[in-house]
Amino acid sequence: MSAASPFRERVARALADETLHVALGRATGQLQSRRDVAFASLDDADAVRDFARAGKLAATRALDRMLEEFERRLIANGVVVHWARDAEEACATIVDIARARGCRRAVKGKSMATEEIELNAALQAAGITVVESDLGEFVVQLDRDRPSHIILPILHRTREQVGRIFERELAVDYTPDPAELCRIARARLRDEFLAADIGITGANFGVVETGSLCIVSNEGNVRMSSSLPRVHVALLGIDKLLPTLDHLDAALKVLARSATGQKSTVYVSLVHGPRRAPAEVAPEELHVLLLDHGRTKVLAGEAAEMFACIRCGACLNACPVFQQVGGHAYASIYPGPMGSVLTPVMRGLADHAELPQASSLCGACRDACPVKIDLPRMLLALRRESVATLPQPLALRIALRAWSFVMARPWLHRVARRLARAVARRAAPDGWLRRAPGLLSNWTATRDLKAPSARSFDEWWRNRGAPR
Ligand code: SF4
Repeated sequence: MSAASPFRERVARALADETLHVALGRATGQLQSRRDVAFASLDDADAVRDFARAGKLAATRALDRMLEEFERRLIANGVVVHWARDAEEACATIVDIARARGCRRAVKGKSMATEEIELNAALQAAGITVVESDLGEFVVQLDRDRPSHIILPILHRTREQVGRIFERELAVDYTPDPAELCRIARARLRDEFLAADIGITGANFGVVETGSLCIVSNEGNVRMSSSLPRVHVALLGIDKLLPTLDHLDAALKVLARSATGQKSTVYVSLVHGPRRAPAEVAPEELHVLLLDHGRTKVLAGEAAEMFACIRCGACLNACPVFQQVGGHAYASIYPGPMGSVLTPVMRGLADHAELPQASSLCGACRDACPVKIDLPRMLLALRRESVATLPQPLALRIALRAWSFVMARPWLHRVARRLARAVARRAAPDGWLRRAPGLLSNWTATRDLKAPSARSFDEWWRNRGAPR
């Protein structure tokens, strides 16, 4: 799906894609019910969520001090620390690390930050072969596709489609059986792990008190990527810090439950530094690259609370808009409600003004969020900013002015109401309008519109009689 096509076209294409609906329906429904069951197994889920949130917000409030302390501890652990302001600097730094050490083959763990900076293209342009080792990302790479979900990159694919991709790209017999597909991928990837001389991963959390990276996965591929090659580079955003291991404990409990409905992710790796003794299975060098790439803009505005985000994907699964259109419609690495906040703030509201509108503001994302981020508040703030700073369509401006003119004059409002009721009596004898004029036709194009009630609220209020 082309990222350059306008938002409405992408949405229309997604809505017309029956296979996408099958894939989205299967995955989001299952993820939500598994999440609910997993949270029920926590003794005091609310307290754990609050403590995880408190940890993220404490790191955010003292970010400058936390980052300096984290860097100091990493260096003390034998880690080489790098900083990057943007994607260009980050890619150049990783390419330089690889080149300086003669690395020709890279194996990667799933990392949204590396997707964000388009690292694979930069490595390939520098003559370095890169292979994705997460099963979903492996399929994305084979299919020259883009991830559509921050946890499940091929949420938009059915297992039948994955079977066809393997048949086409790997010259194997077609099978839609997930176990067989995993076996094929595992056989291919094992050689890649052994041949790679540089492993590149993200990190779920950076723990300030110990200078450690915490990386979770369900497939074991991250552990292989971060320990078998002689060089390991971990790229993490400056929003990934947690002050203490106690905070990490709480964050891991809510992350696994929210992301995949598990009590714990299968592999939780705590990386403290490079190899210290010859017998250790660890890389000779560990590099940590701390990335800004728009994050300080988030920190400076109304969306600073997004620094608490642990990238679990629960808000995507709960969102009725995401459930209908999937991740590619957002044309951003970060789709769904969290992406509709992050993308405009990090990459510019003018180019992404439609994203905060892609929400019903039902609040399902806020309820699902394990760290209780108030996403609807931020979506509304972005809508406000969009109206205040960007040109709005002429029809919308005229309609809103007319609306505000009528609403400010009660007598005119009463006349308009009577008129609307009279029209509705003729056009909607059963109480439902099937076709409405002007801007309202956007609504009736896909659903019926309730006709105005026979009695308005203020009429009912005035005639409700003496309070009992
Ligand atoms: S905003 Fe909340 S629910 Fe959404 S990805 Fe971040 S932590 Fe998860």
